[in-house]
Amino acid sequence: MAADDYDRMLPEELQSAAELEFESSLRPRTLDEFVGQQKVRTQLDLLLRAAKLDGRAPDHILLAGPPGLGKTTLAMIVAEETGNALRLTSGPALQNAGDLAAVLSSMVEGEVLFIDEIHRMARTAEEMLYLAMEDFRIDIMVGKGAGAQSVPLELPRFTVVGATTRAGLLPAPLRDRFGFTAHLEFYDDAELERVLHRTANLLAVDAAPESLAEIGRRSRGTPRIANRLFRRVRDWALVHNTDVDVAAARAALELYDVDARGLDRLDREVLRALIQRFGGGPVGVRTLAVTVGEEADTVESVVEPFLVRTGLIARTQRGRIATPAAYEHLGVQMPDL
Ligand code: ADP
Repeated sequence: MAADDYDRMLPEELQSAAELEFESSLRPRTLDEFVGQQKVRTQLDLLLRAAKLDGRAPDHILLAGPPGLGKTTLAMIVAEETGNALRLTSGPALQNAGDLAAVLSSMVEGEVLFIDEIHRMARTAEEMLYLAMEDFRIDIMVGKGAGAQSVPLELPRFTVVGATTRAGLLPAPLRDRFGFTAHLEFYDDAELERVLHRTANLLAVDAAPESLAEIGRRSRGTPRIANRLFRRVRDWALVHNTDVDVAAARAALELYDVDARGLDRLDREVLRALIQRFGGGPVGVRTLAVTVGEEADTVESVVEPFLVRTGLIARTQRGRIATPAAYEHLGVQMPDL
């Protein structure tokens, strides 16, 4: 698998510093600058404006959807639009209640606490978070052994913005404590073209509109991937001393194994395994993940939603099946039933 494919799926802490800097330089800073997701933007706008009129911190917000659709960006926008600081942490960093207590006990009135991958936090931290979100207090254990005592600590009002790629994995009590859940959808081609247009402007690259449309179509409905592919295309044009045009876009994308429908190598491996090893299914996602040697979580939260959305696989009660379009895409004869 190409390094880029891995990059796409890595948690932020494992992405390269250059990559993170590139992403952060492109992040929209306000809701107006944020492209697409019209419904979510209107919902968030209302929530933020009402809180401002009431003079209180906005309700807690849960952002659900596949990686790269703008969850972190929206958390930053919530902080920016309310004029407050943002604190960042993640589920995997909260391995016990003490980790969370350390963050919460230093929160300042109105601050926004962004918890990425919130479905991966430890159970004990989760229980502390329930209380903090609902009553703005926590109980801290002081001392050890028989002399240990639970001491209540009042917290200032703040807003939790949780992000998850797997909303279904969140326990109901935690889900219920969010006043609003935004489900981010994959972006359509026109929206991705707008994202790329903005990126080209910010990077001062003169790109032909058709090249941006071509990149957008092959970006798996995901702004992060669109921006990354844009960079590869720009590299290609630079090295070959050509314009950023459709020919450059096609050549660069082919080089990086992104096919005409935007599938990358892992997408195709999963599809091929489904068709060639399991006769087109039905088969469970976890089995597919093992077959291609990939984390089940990656296949479930990154590959499967995209392949379902493009109509190449379908979910059934007994597992996933390949659709006729999948056979056609891979150029494989569909068996007679
Ligand atoms: P997530 O947290 O969902 O994985 P991010 O918020 O980190 O996604 O977004 C990834 C990249 O995509 C960022 O660089 C951001 O600039 C860009 N991006 C995401 N959503 C949008 C959008 N709606 N408009 C413009 N750029 C976006």
